[in-house]
Amino acid sequence: MKQGNMRILSNRQVSDRYWHMIVDASGLDAEVYPGQFFNIRCSEETYPLLRRPFSIYRINRSAGTLEFLYLVKGLGTKRLTERKAGETVDIFGPLGTPFTLQEDWKTVLLIARGVGIATLAALAQDAAERGIRAAAILSARSQNDLLATKTLQGFGADVYKVTEEDGNSDVVSVRLLLEKILERHKIDAAFTCGSKRLSRLLQEVTAVHQIPAQIALEEHMGCAMGVCFACVCDVREGETLKTVRVCKEGPVFPLEKVVLA
Ligand SMILES: Cc1cc2nc3c(=O)[nH]c(=O)nc-3n(C[C@H](O)[C@H](O)[C@H](O)COP(=O)(O)OP(=O)(O)OC[C@H]3O[C@@H](n4cnc5c(N)ncnc54)[C@H](O)[C@@H]3O)c2cc1C
Repeated sequence: MKQGNMRILSNRQVSDRYWHMIVDASGLDAEVYPGQFFNIRCSEETYPLLRRPFSIYRINRSAGTLEFLYLVKGLGTKRLTERKAGETVDIFGPLGTPFTLQEDWKTVLLIARGVGIATLAALAQDAAERGIRAAAILSARSQNDLLATKTLQGFGADVYKVTEEDGNSDVVSVRLLLEKILERHKIDAAFTCGSKRLSRLLQEVTAVHQIPAQIALEEHMGCAMGVCFACVCDVREGETLKTVRVCKEGPVFPLEKVVLA
């Protein structure tokens, strides 16, 4: 884990609500894995005080760059949009436990909603580099928000898009699509991020089909170092419930263990 300044190579708006930032991470002497995140100081000023967590969207090891895809939500992300190429940004990480991919897996299923797509894009990249195929269901409000479609297709993923705009993003429609994909492909493992509703659906379906699944959780974070306990969630350990920190024990957990309230 490292805290340091990274030079912003580009930070630009890619749709109405989303921005894409590339930083020079050549000075980072830690490996970065999909599912991990960085806690970024969005502003040079003291307000907002707390850093904001962002998952790795793309890792370019040869160029020594890291990429983030972020949704402008409140003050922190608004301040981040004001940061310019050439400036430095104070970044803390990599943090958290990454996704795991098994070498003998041939095809994986990804289900992402909203900014969860950013988190799973890095996994699709890793899967492609290991020769693992991916089928991905991407869900968003509108076609305009399905930003990583081309990125995922570039990694060879079969992408299925569902949106409110097209009226096919409700749970019943996604369940039907999911069953169709499971008929078409032998899925070795499934991954999700960005929607409790879709994660609950995936939890049910993977339990029935006995497919191992992992989830990257997003919770409000304070310190992101495991000290403040702001980001706790419950996981099942046998017959009991255990409270864990998303920043430290997560953000990636086995899907069947997580209590999705
Ligand atoms: C491990 C992790 C990885 C993440 N990766 C990404 C990413 O790759 N791209 C991206 O755009 N976002 C990501 N997020 C979410 C991102 O951190 C929040 O959107 C951001 O902190 C909002 O900050 P803000 O100051 O703009 O908004 P705030 O003013 O803090 O909040 C605006 C609104 O968002 C809600 N909110 C704030 N933080 C969170 C949160 N962590 N989870 C859910 N709701 C929240 C608030 O209740 C409020 O309604 C991630 C979060 C976590 C925990």
